[in-house]
Amino acid sequence: MASPRTPIIAGNWKCHKTVEEARALAEGVLHGVEGIDGVEVVLCPPSVSLTTVSKCLEGHSLRLGAQNLYPTEGAYTGEVAARMLAGLCRYVILGHSERRHIFGEDDALIHAKVEAALAHGLAPILCVGETLEENERGRTEEVVSRQVRAALEGVDGRHFMELGGVIAYEPVWAIGTGRPCYGPTANAVIGMIRHLLAGLYSPEIASALRIQYGGSVNAANIAEFMEQPEIDGALVGGASLRVEEFVAIVRRTAEVRGLR
Ligand code: PEP
Repeated sequence: MASPRTPIIAGNWKCHKTVEEARALAEGVLHGVEGIDGVEVVLCPPSVSLTTVSKCLEGHSLRLGAQNLYPTEGAYTGEVAARMLAGLCRYVILGHSERRHIFGEDDALIHAKVEAALAHGLAPILCVGETLEENERGRTEEVVSRQVRAALEGVDGRHFMELGGVIAYEPVWAIGTGRPCYGPTANAVIGMIRHLLAGLYSPEIASALRIQYGGSVNAANIAEFMEQPEIDGALVGGASLRVEEFVAIVRRTAEVRGLR
């Protein structure tokens, strides 16, 4: 039976591209994905380019995502609050490993961000994943479970699902390293997350929620992930900055999913 979960390919542009470069990249992707059906494409530019990219995407099916938010408004210099993103973006990346490890975001803050996103109608792309050391010590399941539980405990799972919330399994050791996770291994971890969601919420919600893989995805390896039954797409960093590469990832996803 075909999966009801529409595959989702999101490009995380991180701290790259000026406003004009972001416009050119968005226009290139828009043009490149014309005629490719059955894949939801999300562009996540730096916050300074959100308005420009939003205008580029008007009238198209591609979606806009922010890379972060702050849970409250007020005296928080440099931050962008959920209410400011509402109406502009459909998605927001939360809990990315760079936020956890470079900026010291802990599980409690990520939980508050998830709640703030949902309160303002934004669909989180909630990132979880273990470090290399945790992986080598066999702690993947423990770490990923803790991150999922901490972010979602007490969160209305139906609301998360209805807004189109996504979880991204991103092993930290695979991000930006050119060393992706083995497809079946990522599939097993994602299956474990789905099992956890069934207990946290319900089997119905767990089977409807989309869970992506992220970490050194490119056009040559996307099929290995999209062939896996539990994997519903990819969060793409470096390869999302190159129009042809990103478009090829979307095209390959549509091809593989069409066969699945
Ligand atoms: C990311 O930053 O979420 C990511 C997956 O990066 P990359 O694709 O470059 O590994």
